Amino acid sequence: MATEQSVLRRLPSVDEVLRRLAARPELAGMPRVRLTAAVRQVLDDERRRLAGGAAAPAAVDVVADRAVERLVRAGRFSLRAVINATGVVLHTNLGRALLSPLALERLGAVGPAYSNLELDVATNERGSRYSHVDAVLRRLTGAEAALVVNNNAAAVLLALETVAHGREVVVSRGELIEIGGEFRIPDIMLRSGARLREVGTTNRTHLRDYEQAIGPDTALLLKVHTSNYRVVGFTADVSSRDLAELGRARGVPVMEDLGSGCLVDLRAHGFPHEPTVQEVVASGVDLVSFSGDKLLGGPQAGIVVGRAALVARLQKNPWNRALRIDKLTLGALEATLDAYDAGTAHETVPTLRMLTETPQVVRRRARQVLRAVPAAARERLRAEIVTDASEVGGGALPTVKLPTAAIALGASDAEARRLDAALRSGEPAVVGRIVTGRLLLDCRTVLPSQVRSLATAVARAATPP
Ligand SMILES: *Cc1c(COP(=O)(O)O)cnc(C)c1O
Repeated sequence: MATEQSVLRRLPSVDEVLRRLAARPELAGMPRVRLTAAVRQVLDDERRRLAGGAAAPAAVDVVADRAVERLVRAGRFSLRAVINATGVVLHTNLGRALLSPLALERLGAVGPAYSNLELDVATNERGSRYSHVDAVLRRLTGAEAALVVNNNAAAVLLALETVAHGREVVVSRGELIEIGGEFRIPDIMLRSGARLREVGTTNRTHLRDYEQAIGPDTALLLKVHTSNYRVVGFTADVSSRDLAELGRARGVPVMEDLGSGCLVDLRAHGFPHEPTVQEVVASGVDLVSFSGDKLLGGPQAGIVVGRAALVARLQKNPWNRALRIDKLTLGALEATLDAYDAGTAHETVPTLRMLTETPQVVRRRARQVLRAVPAAARERLRAEIVTDASEVGGGALPTVKLPTAAIALGASDAEARRLDAALRSGEPAVVGRIVTGRLLLDCRTVLPSQVRSLATAVARAATPP
């Protein structure tokens, strides 16, 4: 028995094995809890083997190999972090807006514990999940009331179904948008049970067009922000203010689907004017809807603000229960809105920080990446820093080109394509863009915390297997 005890003591510790695993590239990005669990399982197997009469415990490298084998067999998580080197800040396919540290902190606080989601703990009475963001949304937008749902598509659907089911909604022909992912105004209209009444032409719609279309069956005047395209040249549209005035005069509610939902004026940073939520609310529009994860820079959510009586009708619609927002999203949204309330959004909300970062700061990060790539690899790839343009993305500010710095790699089209494929299949995957035969890694969307792993990935791509 005594010998068995001493044999067991010679088994490597969990920490010893974990230190070996840290150097294994096939495990890069694997969460520590999974590594620890795998090491424990291998060590348990080993203890059983020894109890069954095996003479010597396995060496630390053998245990590490078995843990790697087990982890690789189990596979990585399907949804995982990637390095966005496309320069598209709100990249829908790469997850749109990134959460702020405070939003992340709220996920950690609300996820693993019970919460006051729908309980007013002071009175022990049933509360509303919307109460957690209602006051801050009213304060920030100036609206009477607010409601949040799963995303902005849901917000538009809910509003149309509530206000206009079986009746007519007047929309300008120039605003019958498709934003991708099957969201098209005419289709949403159909599904909500409302009838689309198109007015005006593709390039010009006037107030009189709306005026003439209003009849006993009109339930809503809808203005849709042309968030992902611009009609330029001989154009005319009706302002939110004029439309709101018309609606009020004729007793018809007016809604604006704002899409992005910016809460700060970005003109100070050289952007063209994008109507803010506050401006649209102040124009007198009755309902305004926007996304949580576009320019706002929060979690995926749809936000509706406006007249209390209308918002209350939306909230009571049974559809709202089907489109409802969950507690993790609410926690992250509350934290994001709090940053605007506290005036710290520019520094802490990643979307705003990336959009307003100067080309000089982006270039500094590009230099940090390049410096961390071994000189031989840099030479082989003809790596250099070039000037280019980033995009806002996510169907916002479609014409804006943000001056940026990118790392250009490869000397031929074929090599650029090979590098692109190699970087995308690495761990973490790196997604760049090919421009005139070179692979560009735009550093505007590369996080400071990703500089090292990007450099490692580039160095690895320089030496094809
Ligand atoms: C993006 C967008 C939507 C859809 O918002 P999601 O939050 O992605 O559902 C609807 N309308 C407009 C004008 C948009 O730009």
